Amino acid sequence: MTPSRPAFAPAEPYRMRIGEAWREARATFAAVDPSTGETWARIPQGTAADVDDAVAAARAAFPAWRRTTPATRQELLWRIADRVEADPDRWARLLATENGRPIREAHVADVPTCAGIFRFFSGVVRDLRGDQIPVEAPERLVYTTREPLGVIAALIPWNSPIITLANKLAPALAAGNTVVVKPSELASASVLEFARLVEDLLPPGVLNVVTGGGPEAGAALVAHPDVAKISFTGGPETARRIMAAAGTVLTPSIMELGGKGAMIVCADADVPRAVSDALTGIYLANGEACIAASRLLVHDAVHDEFLAEFERRARTIVVGDALDPRSQFGPMVSRGQRDRVEACVAAAIAEGATLRVGGTRPALGAPFDDGFFLEPTLLEEPAGTTSASRSEIFGPVTVLERVGDDEEAIARANGTPYGLAAGVWTTDLARAHRIAQRLDVGVAWVNTWFDLPIGAPMGGVKESGFGRETCAETLLEYSAPRVVNIDLGPTRPHLWGDA
Ligand code: NAD
Repeated sequence: MTPSRPAFAPAEPYRMRIGEAWREARATFAAVDPSTGETWARIPQGTAADVDDAVAAARAAFPAWRRTTPATRQELLWRIADRVEADPDRWARLLATENGRPIREAHVADVPTCAGIFRFFSGVVRDLRGDQIPVEAPERLVYTTREPLGVIAALIPWNSPIITLANKLAPALAAGNTVVVKPSELASASVLEFARLVEDLLPPGVLNVVTGGGPEAGAALVAHPDVAKISFTGGPETARRIMAAAGTVLTPSIMELGGKGAMIVCADADVPRAVSDALTGIYLANGEACIAASRLLVHDAVHDEFLAEFERRARTIVVGDALDPRSQFGPMVSRGQRDRVEACVAAAIAEGATLRVGGTRPALGAPFDDGFFLEPTLLEEPAGTTSASRSEIFGPVTVLERVGDDEEAIARANGTPYGLAAGVWTTDLARAHRIAQRLDVGVAWVNTWFDLPIGAPMGGVKESGFGRETCAETLLEYSAPRVVNIDLGPTRPHLWGDA
């Protein structure tokens, strides 16, 4: 470990959380600091047997947890938020060390958002209620209750791990379910730290964490017959594998998948403001975000002005150690991810795109020579026909395209398999509504990007997935109606045999 850096150091070796036990694994794998390439912790390599035990623990905890009162669940979720907020510096150092999230972002984004999601679901616990159903028969009482489902399998990615964890855990617990989490191999420590933080708040077995490989621990979890629902955030290819496995045991799922966010800049847009939003849209979280603004569809009339301003500002972005508060941009999460993003840039250039900004590894000097850095990158390809305009790169690469009118912009924005987020920049109110209404996405922004208020549904259409998180209706994803049908009549007609 480089001594001068305030890198996060675990207080004790990481172990998995299964029921009331903290369990070691026979094998471990390395957690690597992306700024330096150094191993900073070891993560347990969970097995199918660990998954079995975790599901059994969650199943055993379910009957008592589902009977807790709304007030109990409200209070516990609120207290979890208090704990998360109690030491933001610690989380910020952990996330920067773990996945390279610039420390200044962890302070303003990850910690408050994670806590805010727990507070939101604490607030809506009492909104989960059934209906009284109007029926024709006068002496019938028919009503529904919302029942929790059972054991939820939560599989989360490495970007923003405590936010994606909160997105699943808070509503699942609020609705009365118990949970087994399988974190990403690249961001397991933050989930284990979270489980440690709330250990004394939640009864044993209500939250279990099995770390390990996706194809091993993850695959065992999603194929487990005692899992009631799968809640997955990650890539579409993994989603296909999971749904195939879940199909064998008929387990339903929520899928929050990738995106190819298109930002439409109209001829009447406030260009400097649109450039600011584009820079945030693509370079926040090092570009490793499902809602990244990875396509910039800019009207002919303002294209050159937009390009000049974007280039000027992108070249001044401070790239450096994720732990340094002066860094505006950190490393990619892993060597593999950096190599993959570089290959996407090379492929786009070979297909005809022009490299305008970045695309190379910055020379930061020791101890960052083995870090997984790549400069913020802008490609230009007016027609938007290269792979970089169609496929999710999941890195700091955006493509500037040139559009002639609104119709062309809308058609291009909708012309990918994804449908997560898109946005339009204009000073014309009617045009803003017209375009927003025709974007084939779950989230459409007007003159802003990356703003996801807690309470507003988050999720996609097409290959960006299904199900909605961070909103009151998410509770419906984690519960099912039970109909109670009561005959209040004093007599009954005799239809069979002698009266
Ligand atoms: P990934 O699909 O590689 O992995 C996600 C999780 O699935 C990890 O925990 C992994 O271990 C597990 N997994 C892998 N193979 C598995 C298998 N066969 N069975 C069960 N589990 C398995 O995704 P990633 O690289 O960690 O994250 C990046 C992706 O996540 C991007 O596509 C991004 O757009 C998406 N994402 C979406 C949202 C959203 O809300 N829509 C948010 C964040 C990230």
